Amino acid sequence: MKEKRTLMLPGPTPIPEEARLAGAQKIIGHRGVDCEELMEEVTENLKYVFQTENDVLVLTCSGTGGLEASIANTLSAGDKVLSLCTGAFGERYATIAERYDIDVERMNFAWGEDIDVDRVKARLAADQEQEIKAILMTHNETSTGVINHPAPIGELAAQHNALLLVDAVSSIGGIELKTDKWQADVVVTSSQKALMSPPGLCLVSVSPQALAATQDSDLPKFYWSFQRAKERYERCYQTPSTPALATLYVLREVLREIREEGLENLFQRHQLVTRALRRGVEAMGLELLVAEEIASKTVTAIKLPTDVEYEAVEQRLREQYNVYITGSKGKLKGKVFRIGHLGNVSRSDILSTISALEMVLNQEGFEVKLGSGLAAAQKVFHKEERR
Ligand SMILES: *Cc1c(COP(=O)(O)O)cnc(C)c1O
Repeated sequence: MKEKRTLMLPGPTPIPEEARLAGAQKIIGHRGVDCEELMEEVTENLKYVFQTENDVLVLTCSGTGGLEASIANTLSAGDKVLSLCTGAFGERYATIAERYDIDVERMNFAWGEDIDVDRVKARLAADQEQEIKAILMTHNETSTGVINHPAPIGELAAQHNALLLVDAVSSIGGIELKTDKWQADVVVTSSQKALMSPPGLCLVSVSPQALAATQDSDLPKFYWSFQRAKERYERCYQTPSTPALATLYVLREVLREIREEGLENLFQRHQLVTRALRRGVEAMGLELLVAEEIASKTVTAIKLPTDVEYEAVEQRLREQYNVYITGSKGKLKGKVFRIGHLGNVSRSDILSTISALEMVLNQEGFEVKLGSGLAAAQKVFHKEERR
């Protein structure tokens, strides 16, 4: 018999059962009234999740496609942008812009730390000619498990007449992002992370300033064109090309469930499981990569004990306990492993992951008192229950 998987990846993530079944509905034409109703409901509920009055465009691609679209639509070749890099995804965003012949200035921060707002402030102050046209940032840096707060950067960007483009692929739906209040011009997320749907859709909010910038942009685009998407969207929520209909069915159901749970509860649930996981891991004698104040609520990076190999831990967790985790990228490869806890994650998922990890680490020669991490995590949940 195939055992149930415990998918603890920072995407793709498990799909809630009813939503998953919704994906099996019959395919409809994408120019008919029923598709318009589907798109209208999805779009309006996305505005709730993004906390925005801006247009939210539905693109058919994974998150990276939306990041590329954010560059191709709002900038021109030779434009200067400031790219705030706190890890592998920050670097990817900068690389995309470079491929479009944007003049990218990378401001690098140590992996495991967040953006130092004072450095950004000083750099913008030095740019008296206002050459910097946009700031690129990663809201939740999935490679390290760090949250960068968009609000202070949004304020600086607005003062500087620069656009703020935000990679929120692993945050929207798990970590709060107040798109309008925090002045984020373009916010990009995708279906397969905290939005608990299959891969295939990218959701992008676009502010009036960002839409205005598309008028001046000289970069080539067709499939990625916000203007084409916007025209269709204004005529009854359609998309210029065929959307990923089956993924939309699932997303519609997920968004209904999100509305029912409410954003506040959703964020609290993510905070609670994060706290339990972090306390559990520490009690096992492992070290966390990231300080408490800036720790992601959707993915946690844990330092591998010396002499323990990531591949062996990953394989044992998968083969013996059906628990799926992931390693790290770039500078952290082989030194850190990551546990995703976003979207459809439950307290039991956290407890079973911790307990499997304890056993596997022992097998790999890192001594953990069985039950020590588990007890610490239980304590977090137990305390919550008694509040
Ligand atoms: C997952 C992820 C992406 C995009 O990945 P896709 O595979 O293209 O969906 C981009 N940025 C961050 C921060 C991510 O976590």
